[in-house]
Amino acid sequence: MLSVNTPHPAYPFLPMREPDINSPECRKAMDHVRSLLSFIGEDPNREGLLDTPKRVVKAMHEHFRGYNMDPAEALARTFSEVEGYDQMVLLTDLDIQSHCEHHMVPFVGKAHVAYIPDGKVVGLSKLAKVVEIFSKRLQVQEKLTAQIAQAIQEHLNPLGVAVVIECRHFCMCYRGVHQPRAWTTTSKLTGIFLKNMATREEFLRLIASRGRSND
Ligand SMILES: [Zn+2]
Repeated sequence: MLSVNTPHPAYPFLPMREPDINSPECRKAMDHVRSLLSFIGEDPNREGLLDTPKRVVKAMHEHFRGYNMDPAEALARTFSEVEGYDQMVLLTDLDIQSHCEHHMVPFVGKAHVAYIPDGKVVGLSKLAKVVEIFSKRLQVQEKLTAQIAQAIQEHLNPLGVAVVIECRHFCMCYRGVHQPRAWTTTSKLTGIFLKNMATREEFLRLIASRGRSND
């Protein structure tokens, strides 16, 4: 079993290009931000808010950069010289920083991703990149979990994939039902993780033990 713990992953993977703030699309988006400022009772023309539309548009560009990235590209390069390695590859504690598609507020937490190769492996950072690509879009956690698992299954064609995501949703913590301590856990299993109870239990045990060792 190959296990990689990534307690402090930055997001170095996606190229960050500054949006062209003078383009018609950006200007239009900035106008909408001004409208929202008025809507909440603010004066968009007061000094402290003059540059806010520009900052919001730049931040959005960063939050949602996953739309411009293709997971197929991230998973395109595989390696078959693996010395017959056919056991679980597990990455734990990948940071999730996403936004819910219902309220456009953040949900944050961790993803744990495992697969069992069938003759070929992919660079470990590419798995983290797939997580990033899908999380930097408007999401619901269930869909995010399924998309990550499906992309790895489809492009790497391993014996099985397992993805578990644990997140706190700001739309649930700080509005609505106000449950700031609530965690949402979702999982998506394919192939051998579904069919073989021992494989599934090994994966779940490794994730649970990681939780304890991180405390
Ligand atoms: Zn929400």
